[in-house]
Amino acid sequence: MKLIFLGPPGAGKGTLAAKAVEILKLPHISTGAIFRAAIAAKSPLGLKVKAIIDAGKLVDDETTIALVKERLSQADAQKGYILDGFPRTIPQAEALAAFSAVDQVVNFDIPDSSVLERLGGRRVCRACGTNYHQVFNKPKQDGVCDSCGGEVYTRDDDKAEAVQKRLEVYRDQTAPLIGFYRGKGLLIDVDARPAVEQVVENFRKALGV
Ligand code: ADP
Ligand code: ADP
Ligand code: ZN
Repeated sequence: MKLIFLGPPGAGKGTLAAKAVEILKLPHISTGAIFRAAIAAKSPLGLKVKAIIDAGKLVDDETTIALVKERLSQADAQKGYILDGFPRTIPQAEALAAFSAVDQVVNFDIPDSSVLERLGGRRVCRACGTNYHQVFNKPKQDGVCDSCGGEVYTRDDDKAEAVQKRLEVYRDQTAPLIGFYRGKGLLIDVDARPAVEQVVENFRKALGV
């Protein structure tokens, strides 16, 4: 099954994807996570995208499309995938359609107020990328990852100025994908407001898995 997770920053896409990976046995491909790993490694890609991401803007389509095309050509993605954070623009969606046939697009339905609350408290493990929240999902020990012992930190793009910019970018460039995929009959809406376990249930019901 080839799935896209579509929704505003902080909707819970990465959190649900971590659960869906276990249910569906598919790889979770997050463009944001790939960019953060490149930044941590100080690779040429990382050096190119760091300032853009920290400012809450989008990496250019050409770079992002080439990255995803390469990733989807790898062996583990042939049986399907969960694509989280891509596409984020209409040109990205059009490019994707030319190299992979997506089965369903899961649209995370959530108001801005919840998104702000989730982004404001988000913490992430620098080493393994596991998500936490300072209120809803705290690590057992403050600042330390439960799964790997890595440092749990606040992403630079989760700071207030970048968050405003990212929500604006979402509205202008990414939200039009809802209509794009609805028009193709691929969109499934999932109520992303409740607690994680209930969102997992909503996802299972919507997808029939
Ligand atoms: P979010 O929590 O907003 O869903 P992500 O981890 O998906 O964040 O992405 C973090 C940042 O990486 C984005 O704000 C953007 O700068 C960059 N990025 C991720 N995916 C894409 C994409 N498909 N196109 C352009 N930029 C992207
Ligand atoms: P996205 O990948 O869409 O940007 P995340 O999965 O990183 O979103 O979630 C954003 C923040 O909200 C994280 O701190 C996460 O722990 C928290 N979160 C995710 N889903 C829920 C939920 N259903 N209820 C409360 N908090 C949640
Ligand atoms: Zn970790």
